[in-house]
Amino acid sequence: MQNNKLIFACCSDTHGLHTSAGLEIPVGDVLLFAGDAGLDSKQDIQAFETWLSLLPHAHKVVVMGNMDSAAAVPANAPGPSSKLHTQQKCIPLKYGQSVCDEIVEVAGYRIFGSPWTPAFYGQWQLQSEEAARVHWERLLPPDAQVDIIMTHGPPHGYGDRTKGRHVGDKALLKAVQSLKRPPLLWVCGHIHESVGSYRVPHPAAPGEGILLINAAANNIRLGDSSAAPRAVEITGREKAEVSSDAAAAANGRIQTYARKPWRINKRTSITKKF
Ligand SMILES: [Zn+2]
Repeated sequence: MQNNKLIFACCSDTHGLHTSAGLEIPVGDVLLFAGDAGLDSKQDIQAFETWLSLLPHAHKVVVMGNMDSAAAVPANAPGPSSKLHTQQKCIPLKYGQSVCDEIVEVAGYRIFGSPWTPAFYGQWQLQSEEAARVHWERLLPPDAQVDIIMTHGPPHGYGDRTKGRHVGDKALLKAVQSLKRPPLLWVCGHIHESVGSYRVPHPAAPGEGILLINAAANNIRLGDSSAAPRAVEITGREKAEVSSDAAAAANGRIQTYARKPWRINKRTSITKKF
């Protein structure tokens, strides 16, 4: 991994909002979009592509969500090992990198992305807890080297509360907590009312855990300004802190932040600053 400082703009669940002027995306190096742009038709995909093409980020990484039906394509992957988790794949994008159940390397960081969520409604549904267990254990074995997790759905207990209940994915939480090397950042969406920042405990990151951002922006349309997209600054895994020069430079670049950005200095220090 590189040790350079990068700003990741995190956004999810726009459900069409990205086509309106009301959505501000933090300036940064990498856009992480965690699903549910609301791609119901070819026209929706075209509008999303246009939006992506206009954003200034050098890298745009996208996972799909359960409400992106026009982005789901059947997988031609016969055989018993594929039945539980590759019934559907995701369309590629022209102006972003569509990630579907795989790890990709972007700007020196290894990013895992998956659209699958526990059975609810729409596409990429894990029909049982057993199906979810097989799915996540297969995609995220303990030795997997992942810096950033992007899942449409949140893990159980974090960013997943709706109507008084936690509805997140238990098997997903277990798989991530079983990774020998904890990821630096986890971006999800799906549960609109739990938008915000959380820390997911991890045995190899005592105290601070993994920074989880439920980046669901949908509730902006309900007047919830806390649902605005967030930015995270990451300095390579071993860097002790971000220099003040870098902080100042970032401050100058991030003029459209609706939220204060998070900064990850190192595993022992995740601070909300600026
Ligand atoms: Zn949604």
